[in-house]
Amino acid sequence: MAYVIEGATGTWELVIGLEVHAQVISKAKLFSGASTDFGATPNSQVSLVDAAMPGMLPVINGHCVEQAVKTGLGLAAEINRVSVFDRKNYFYPDLPAGYQISQYSQPIVGKGRIILDLPDGTREIGITRLHLEMDAGKSLHDQHPTASFIDLNRAGVALMEIVSEPDLRSPEEAGAYVRKLRSILRYVGTCDGNMEEGSLRVDANVSVRRAGAQYGTRCEIKNVNSVRFVMRAIEYEAKRQVAVLEAGGTVAQETRLYDANRGETRPMRAKEEAHDYRYFPDPDLLPLELDAAFIARVKATLPELPDAKKERFIRDFKLSPYDAGVLVAEQASADYFEAVARGRSGKAAANWVMGDLFGALNKAGRDIAETPVSATQLGGLIDLIEDGTISGRLAKEVFEAMFETGRDAAQIVAERGLQQVTDSGAIAAAIAAVIGANADKVAEYRGGKDKLFGFFVGQVMKATAGKANPKLVNDLLRKKLDG
Ligand code: ADP
Ligand code: MG
Repeated sequence: MAYVIEGATGTWELVIGLEVHAQVISKAKLFSGASTDFGATPNSQVSLVDAAMPGMLPVINGHCVEQAVKTGLGLAAEINRVSVFDRKNYFYPDLPAGYQISQYSQPIVGKGRIILDLPDGTREIGITRLHLEMDAGKSLHDQHPTASFIDLNRAGVALMEIVSEPDLRSPEEAGAYVRKLRSILRYVGTCDGNMEEGSLRVDANVSVRRAGAQYGTRCEIKNVNSVRFVMRAIEYEAKRQVAVLEAGGTVAQETRLYDANRGETRPMRAKEEAHDYRYFPDPDLLPLELDAAFIARVKATLPELPDAKKERFIRDFKLSPYDAGVLVAEQASADYFEAVARGRSGKAAANWVMGDLFGALNKAGRDIAETPVSATQLGGLIDLIEDGTISGRLAKEVFEAMFETGRDAAQIVAERGLQQVTDSGAIAAAIAAVIGANADKVAEYRGGKDKLFGFFVGQVMKATAGKANPKLVNDLLRKKLDG
């Protein structure tokens, strides 16, 4: 089912393209040796290059180049053997040089793709390009009633701008795109994906059109800082454009900002054109040339990526595509799952990890890296169920105790005496007692009231504190009552 917006005059389709700024994981900045640590004292990590002192020359950081290539390979993209750094000129207090060094007509990475994992299947979204650029500083306006302050710690930090084709068609797809991109960046280790700290910032380009018509005029919503806000901003903006068009107006191509408190987008400035920036190649930097051996070397360092891992989990552990998609989204949960599932039932492992473990972690507000139950311990619990030591029902209780105490399943089972009763003598005795105490019900059952069987099962389980093996109880009860 395609996502549409119901207007007063019929339905509208949504067209979205995302531009994501991802901060490169690197100790030093893109063109200087200054530190990139987050949260330092303002202006304590600023080199003369970052402050644009006259005569200072930028020097490209080779590690950042490698990170961009690695990301490109993670996006199944073309790596351009020659790319060029340009000056993008504009005036702003937090941009001391009066220009940003970026890449324009010849970016380091060309066309690639991202596969979205959606509830009803997968969809491929085109990547237009990835280029390297330097971040600007930060203006602080709200700390003093009459003055603004500039912090240049962020000035010169390496960013990758990753641009998608206008292939996305709903807020949900846009959300899935950001999550999948973030997952790939984390797998390859090139961006930590932390949206709250601004390591990943999303600009959403949104337009609406009648089904199958030409693309409409788009608005660009700047710097949205959570997946939820990206989805909300797009939905709000699309509805706003539909209202404008249906009232006979035209959508102005402009840059807007999202106000999360009011849940709306507001105009920021008219959209600038490329010529407004007077791009030209930076004369202080040579074109960047990469040789095939370098690219091959970077390729050899790539880990197994989420899509490949997902296919392998489906194949080797017999998981549904949905479960596999959830488990591989983060490397840590994929590794955890694999350690539990190895040599065991993949389905059982997936159920425990995605159900009980994720549920408990979520409730406790913890990350999988901080789980009190290790993969080995969860595996131990599953083994106790498989070999009949405990029932599946009591296993839930054991898991909760494991999560609280961090202890092994076997210890908890032994201490609390939760072993399943598989001794048929003990179960037969419990059955005899239940039958003895319920002669009237036995007569009703034998008279044809089949539904009472469940009542007897319940009574026997109660008499054995839930520890009797349910299958044995069923078999023995049938024999006693029917035989
Ligand atoms: P600019 O560099 O001016 O921002 P681009 O052509 O590079 O413009 O496009 C930027 C983003 O806008 C891309 O992600 C692209 O997919 C998206 N986009 C382009 N046209 C549309 C449209 N009509 N509706 C929605 N998104 C669009
Ligand atoms: Mg843009």
